Amino acid sequence: MADVPLIELTGVTRVYRTGGGEVLALDGVSLAIRRGEFVAIMGPSGSGKSTLMSLLGCLDRPSGGRYRVGGTDVADLDPDDLAALRRRTFGFVFQRYNLLASSTAVENVEMPAIYAGLPADERRARALDLLGELGLGDRTDHRPGELSGGQQQRVSIARALMNGADVILADEPTGALDSRSSADVMALLKDLHRKGHTVIVITHDPAVAAHADRRIEIADGRIIGDTGAVGDGAGVVALVRRLPANSAAAAAAQVFEAGVTAFRSLRANLFRTALTLLGVVIGVSAVVVMLAVGEGSQRDVVARIQSIGSDLLFVRPGAPGTRPSGEVASLTVADAAALAELGNVLAAVPERSGSKTLRHGAVDHRTSVKAVSEDFPLARDWSLISGVFFTADDLRSHAAVTVIGTTVARNLFPDGEDPVGRYVLMAGVPFQVIGVLEPKGATAFGTDQDDTALVPVTTGFVRLFGQPYLSLLTVRVADTSRIAATEEAVRETLIGRHGVEDFQLRNTASLLETVQGTQRTFTLLLASVAAISLLVGGIGVMNIMLVSVSERTREIGIRMATGARRFDIMVQFNVEALVVGGLGGLLGVALGIGGALALERFGISTVVHPEPAALAFSCALLTGLVFGYLPARKASRLDPVVALASE
Ligand code: ADP
Ligand code: MG
Repeated sequence: MADVPLIELTGVTRVYRTGGGEVLALDGVSLAIRRGEFVAIMGPSGSGKSTLMSLLGCLDRPSGGRYRVGGTDVADLDPDDLAALRRRTFGFVFQRYNLLASSTAVENVEMPAIYAGLPADERRARALDLLGELGLGDRTDHRPGELSGGQQQRVSIARALMNGADVILADEPTGALDSRSSADVMALLKDLHRKGHTVIVITHDPAVAAHADRRIEIADGRIIGDTGAVGDGAGVVALVRRLPANSAAAAAAQVFEAGVTAFRSLRANLFRTALTLLGVVIGVSAVVVMLAVGEGSQRDVVARIQSIGSDLLFVRPGAPGTRPSGEVASLTVADAAALAELGNVLAAVPERSGSKTLRHGAVDHRTSVKAVSEDFPLARDWSLISGVFFTADDLRSHAAVTVIGTTVARNLFPDGEDPVGRYVLMAGVPFQVIGVLEPKGATAFGTDQDDTALVPVTTGFVRLFGQPYLSLLTVRVADTSRIAATEEAVRETLIGRHGVEDFQLRNTASLLETVQGTQRTFTLLLASVAAISLLVGGIGVMNIMLVSVSERTREIGIRMATGARRFDIMVQFNVEALVVGGLGGLLGVALGIGGALALERFGISTVVHPEPAALAFSCALLTGLVFGYLPARKASRLDPVVALASE
């Protein structure tokens, strides 16, 4: 083990395939570097120095030949092992610093330790120590844009040292610096070498190279000079160890850091973020509002139907399957009387209705006149706001009296005078108004129930309708749980009386079912329209994440160079998409509930349930997850060298 070199290249080649053909950047390089050496690699521009450095730092793999680190062939390592090697063994210093522009100095320095799973407080303390040692103790919270070139390079050296870095790889670290800063940086590297780090520095400056113990010269991808190793070079411990699985705490820290980065990058592109969010917000709020409106209108309709009473049976003339018609002469007052005798029947009210014009003074009003029995208020659970209802005596005496609804009262007596005691003309016959019905509002189908006038059924037959046949027979049952049996008894009684089934029997429960079914379809339709808009929002998220990935390719490269695994990059971008989805979801739910409340104010009835809101929010999160996956995968599959080289 003692004589295994730290770094050993044997006949390494690197071929770049470009559109125009192949470039042989390294042409059979063999080289061994021992632990603790200070090596300068020199050569003209384009000679392959940077290519060599990428190979040494495991950012890239050779096209041919062997590269062993601490005796292990890198060809045997998968991308995550290479990331671990970069994270723990190598520290990169680049000519152009490659700091993350939106992070502070100390955050830049901390980054490699995040991927190594160091706890946050230890990480921060170590980063501050390193910056202090490198003379940047008073610059820790500055962003790279607020630092000079020399200071930025020192930050990047601190970052390289964050995880220990046995080997420091510096690619023209002084190339962009003035001579003072340049001397500072070289002094730093020398100091690190003295402390036991292996330092490999690329330079074309002989003054810089003069600091090194060993100088290797390279031209056209070949080594053309090597001053040779100085000293014996200590052996090296095995560098390639598989990392233990990250602890839960480290994983949480990483997700947290990804969340912070996500917020930062969203804030950096505020307008774009707002537009992307808008897509999700509109989608989510549409789902919430639509479901609330659907739910609200269903509740209304159900309430209206229930206001008629769920304990009613309706019998209409005409054989089953035909259109019910008042002109079919099959139901009579005697039928009603027979039904009233049945068990569980509270009341059986005969009814004959038709449209008639009522006149009071000079005012005409056309309304639905119903000839009914004295049991009508009981059967329909309908009381009066003034006056009295007609009685059995009124029926017997064919009294010309009427009880009117509030709409009729308002129309015929516009001055607000009390209609009770007054006379109205119906088909030329004067009827005395003896009562006014309490208002009931519209039915489920929108007809105004208060636009009606009731007369005794006997009077109605004689004076208004001519023929003694019913258009409706309403039966109110006492015990609704036995409504089905009562319905059967009604059917049998009527068939017994008529000999044939020349009537139609319905109950409110079946009506309720029909209407609820229609309402459900309507709600579903609304919700699916809203879901489509959420989908569109999701596509917006994906689009913006893809843009973000291409814009931040270099950042991804830097993260990979400091040891991020593919999985880490994946987590980072997925978290960003989740943040967009979650934020959009929250805003959308808030807007949706606000919108529903606003609609309520405008008289549209809405019901906001927590379930649809939670569902819409989860959908937004899911949208972020699903539509963020592809961009995140694209980011994580980037080749570190290519990513680093991007502008
Ligand atoms: P140096 O760092 O010594 O200036 P490089 O290692 O960057 O040289 O490049 C060596 C050769 O490989 C050059 O001819 C360069 O044009 C070519 N090269 C470098 N990177 C790529 C790449 N990604 N694709 C194609 N050719 C490349
Ligand atoms: Mg170069």
